Amino acid sequence: MVSPAQLRLHFKLEATASGSRARAARFTTLHSEVLTPTFMPVGTHAVVRSQRREDLLESGAQVLLANTYHLLLRPGTEVFEKFGGIHGFMNWPRSVLTDSGGFQIFSLPGSRTLTEEHAEFRSYLDNTLVRLSPERSIETQKAIGADIMMVLDQCVPSTVDHATARSAMELTHRWAWRCLAARGDSPQALFGIVQGASYEDLRVESARAITAMPFDGYAIGGLAVGETRQQREDCTAVVTALLPEDRPRYLMGVGTTRDLLEAVHRGVDMFDCILPTSLAKQGVAFTSIGRRDLRRAAYRGMAGPIDPTCNCYTCRTYSIAYLFHLQRANEVTGWQLLGLHNIHFYLQLMRTMREHILADTWLPFYEVQRHLLDARDSYGAPVRPVTKAQRRMRRLQRGRYEVVIRDDVGFIREKGSGEVMHSVNDPAAEARSLYVEQSRLATRAAFGGGPLVIWDVGLGAAANAMAAICAIEECAAATDRPEVRIISFEHDLDSLELALEHPRWFKHLRHPAPRVLLAQHSWSNPSARLEWQLLLGDFATHKFSAPAPHIIFFDPFSFKTDAALWTQSAFAELLRLCADCATELFTYSSSTSVRAAMLAAGFYVAKGRGTGPKSETTIGLSPQAACMAHGHELLGEDWLGKWGRSDAQAPFGSSDDDTGWREAILSHPQFRHINYHRAPSAKD
Ligand SMILES: [Zn+2]
Repeated sequence: MVSPAQLRLHFKLEATASGSRARAARFTTLHSEVLTPTFMPVGTHAVVRSQRREDLLESGAQVLLANTYHLLLRPGTEVFEKFGGIHGFMNWPRSVLTDSGGFQIFSLPGSRTLTEEHAEFRSYLDNTLVRLSPERSIETQKAIGADIMMVLDQCVPSTVDHATARSAMELTHRWAWRCLAARGDSPQALFGIVQGASYEDLRVESARAITAMPFDGYAIGGLAVGETRQQREDCTAVVTALLPEDRPRYLMGVGTTRDLLEAVHRGVDMFDCILPTSLAKQGVAFTSIGRRDLRRAAYRGMAGPIDPTCNCYTCRTYSIAYLFHLQRANEVTGWQLLGLHNIHFYLQLMRTMREHILADTWLPFYEVQRHLLDARDSYGAPVRPVTKAQRRMRRLQRGRYEVVIRDDVGFIREKGSGEVMHSVNDPAAEARSLYVEQSRLATRAAFGGGPLVIWDVGLGAAANAMAAICAIEECAAATDRPEVRIISFEHDLDSLELALEHPRWFKHLRHPAPRVLLAQHSWSNPSARLEWQLLLGDFATHKFSAPAPHIIFFDPFSFKTDAALWTQSAFAELLRLCADCATELFTYSSSTSVRAAMLAAGFYVAKGRGTGPKSETTIGLSPQAACMAHGHELLGEDWLGKWGRSDAQAPFGSSDDDTGWREAILSHPQFRHINYHRAPSAKD
């Protein structure tokens, strides 16, 4: 049987992510196809505040949200009728969804009276008496010409008492039937709204009642109005579990980028929120490295775009310093440009979520993003007069980083955590020893065969990549020698740019390659058959777009700073990418929980050579690499015993209720010859 919903929206569920309710779908409205998950910029008055339609189109906005309550009062339905609806009026070629007006009637200041028949209120424009019934709301939305109309509902704060919540919910259900009848055979789609405040029993009852009605999609209303994040997430999960698979689901008025991520994880497809533009007005940008607040003085002279991974007009054109200046000067252009970026970022985030759902890589993506999206910049100092000494200090700082000089050698320190890159030694010497010599790079690059791929995870100040490049350039180029491809992953180039300003202390950068890499994101030396490429952005996502590596220099910040890269699931994901490859991973850490994470993920783990005061580092081998003559000393009974007595047995990032890692480590083929029963567990 073909339902009216399928006739109106042709909804097609494309994929649901493993281990999550996150889903990708598509549907077609009267004006355009909509790919979900999606974010709908809010154009309350038939305009997204301060944004041009061209920019919205370029950002990939598929649906605009307009508001029935405001448009009914001004310009009024006759104007829409004259222009062929809102699409003709604002010259918008894609889809439009109209809110019913319920939220505004009940949330805007001023008196209103509510009867079974309608809500009655005074216009905030001219004080005339306006009646909005379910029928009038639908009639107005029909005149506006929305592709998707919403039922008129009674919104109450999510914190009201149970009886009030119940009565609002029941009225919403009765009005929902009237809206359906008023829609009649119009080809415009109509969504029902689940209410019930923060009460689980009411949410369940409301979801059952509303889904019993033949709507084209279902919305969750009455959230983001006073409840906690936990209540909101629980409530969303309760409702989505009861919604039919074959219709779109829309969470109204929510929220921050993190809220969107959490709701997609719980099965929501569509969102709207004013935050991208309203927070832009306050100087707040949502970026791939968390929120940045342009009111903070540290941005005053900062070069580079507000989000190095963003491709929007603002990021392509202006520096952070310029946007900071516009914010300080209270220029309208400032919040217009920031709003443009924020909308673009929201839409790009939704597209990325969709790609991960379709590729079934959602879960690791989600785990990483939930921490990233909520991160806040920590630049707090107000602008003060600058002394000469301070000016010199400032030249030694850039973004999150500063230069520390010890014995005429420069080190890069991350200011937030205090962590120093290659802290224990001369960085160049450590890079040579741990990464280049241990991986026998010069030998491997001297013999024939296919291209040799090296992943440099955490470019930093390029110490490891430059050590590799020098080693390869030093050995004579034989004609049959393989090409070497170095791929560096980095999301923040400030550390490299900072080091390049001080070649006196960073001698390894006295080479043309780093500057060319910064400018063009690639550099090559054809006579050495050597190519260096930069993938700017998150390793967690970009690793999927790089060819499988033979050698990994795994040198990000430690798990205190870069938690997501060191978990069992992150290593498992990495190993899957190396499934058909003899891959050796070299890292400076020798921590028990990092080794446990690698073992539980399926890596074979060997001792790496010491560096500075550290007596050991760690080498990970893919099963293929472990089968070959690798010459590394695999961890054995000694380590297993030590691990059994350790209070850091669990892989980093593992949860209390998942102890599968213990069995994975004890039954790891690397330890096959060892009598398991002798390995004590934490419970002994
Ligand atoms: Zn941008």
